[in-house]
Amino acid sequence: MGLPIVYVDLDGVLAKFPENLDEIDISISDECRQWCNETGKHHSDFEGIFSTLKAMDGADEAIHRLMQKFDVYLLSTAPWANTSSWSEKRIWVEQHLPSLPKKKLILAHNKSLVRGSYLIDDRSKNGASEFGIHEGQEWIHFGSTEFPDWESVLEYLEC
Ligand SMILES: [Mg+2]
Repeated sequence: MGLPIVYVDLDGVLAKFPENLDEIDISISDECRQWCNETGKHHSDFEGIFSTLKAMDGADEAIHRLMQKFDVYLLSTAPWANTSSWSEKRIWVEQHLPSLPKKKLILAHNKSLVRGSYLIDDRSKNGASEFGIHEGQEWIHFGSTEFPDWESVLEYLEC
C-alpha cells in the first residue's frame, strides 16, 4: 500500500477565482465584462479567464507539505461550456504548482466517485460533500470556520 490519497480542489483552494467582475485580472477585465453583458453568461464561462488566476497564499508550499504524508491529486471541475478552461487548468497547474509531479490533475463533475482519504474543497457542489459519506473518507471544508486557511488544514492533517 502506498501513501493515503488526498484530493485538493483548485478554485478557491489553490487558485484565487474572482468572485465578481471587479476582481477579474486587468488583462482581460474589459473584454470579459463586455462579453458577460452581451451574452448574459457568468464570467467562469469566459475563455481565457482560468489562465489569469493567481495562486492562493501558500499554495505550492501546501502541496509540498502534503506530499510528505500523502499521495496528492488535484480534483477540479472545469466549466462544461468553457472548453478552453480544461487546457488552461492543465497549464496553470504546471506554472503555479511546481512541487506537484505531472499527471496529478483530475477534472470531474462528480467528486464523490473517486476513492481516497481526504478531499480539501471550498464548496459542497459537484459531489464534494458526498465524498465524505463513504467510509474512511472525509471532506475538509476549506474556508469554513473550522478550516479557514491552509495553515489550519495542514495542522489538522499533521503536515
Ligand atoms: Mg472550489
